[in-house]
Amino acid sequence: MENPYPLPQALCEEIAALVAAAAINRYPDSGAVALREKIRRVAGLPQGMGVMLGNGSDELIQLLAMAVNKPGATLLSVEPSFVMYKMIATFTGMRYVGVPLMGEDFSLDLDAILAAIEREQPALVFLAYPNNPTGNLFSADAVERIIDAAPGLVVVDEAYYAFASDSFIPQLARYPNLLVMRTFSKLGMAGLRLGFLAGSTAWLEQLEKLRLPYNVGVLPQLIAAKLLDHHEVLLRQAEQIRQDREELYRQLGGITAVHVYPSEANFLLFRVANATAVFEGLKQRGILVKNLNGGHPMLNDCLRVTVGTPEENKRFIAALQEVLTQPA
Ligand code: PMP
Repeated sequence: MENPYPLPQALCEEIAALVAAAAINRYPDSGAVALREKIRRVAGLPQGMGVMLGNGSDELIQLLAMAVNKPGATLLSVEPSFVMYKMIATFTGMRYVGVPLMGEDFSLDLDAILAAIEREQPALVFLAYPNNPTGNLFSADAVERIIDAAPGLVVVDEAYYAFASDSFIPQLARYPNLLVMRTFSKLGMAGLRLGFLAGSTAWLEQLEKLRLPYNVGVLPQLIAAKLLDHHEVLLRQAEQIRQDREELYRQLGGITAVHVYPSEANFLLFRVANATAVFEGLKQRGILVKNLNGGHPMLNDCLRVTVGTPEENKRFIAALQEVLTQPA
């Protein structure tokens, strides 16, 4: 689920000069003041909201779990969703509750979630918006009902914000128990390892107590700040990926054997008979997709493909058609 596009040559050269001059003999700025200020501006945070940085948003999920954990504390999410919520709950010894999504379109089962919140009193709720691996954006009204009902923190995980049509950042000022988490991984910086939490400074001040002081190094701080100065370059690439996603959706939808799901992320989920054999066939042809078959009952015979360059997408469609017409 990476951005397939390289940076413009001139920008690469600017980064090379920055790296050459960087004081890597020094510890990084622990507070990452310059970078956090840039993020606040680029993300358009409402007045009074703060930013906390993580070594990828995976680290922030772990930190949040450590922060709220105590005997019996529960992390609630939906299923199928991003597997790290459950994994990190397990690693940190939290109770985990996963409420199944509904039916064919993977929407939120609001009644079931509200009942689970009432019953389990979760300290932490994670909702991926758009969801991974299904790609859909949940109903914003339903998410707001969940934030209203939750007795603890609700984290709206906007890892795929650059490809989506909605965000909860404008709602931060309205809900004191809401945090929005984003990563720059999908926007073209997966190798830098940089994610952030946005929310009220009252919460972030408490969470900061658990952050290891130098979790974001000198080079990621410098390079990310430079890339955010050229945010429009990355957003143009994201826009290209969005357009190509629609084309790929159309092409997958045109293959009778395939059922493709709408997506607001940089990947598409599709269902096909004998998904594992199709996965292997694609792999033999040099194309790696994610095999979700067997991971969750709702994902039987499902594969997830990342939107690549138009050339990569063409190769993927050609290989898929070949696999479907010439089984191994
Ligand atoms: N949240 C979601 C929903 C994701 O899909 C991912 C990446 N797969 C992450 C968080 C973690 O991203 P990173 O650690 O690269 O910032």
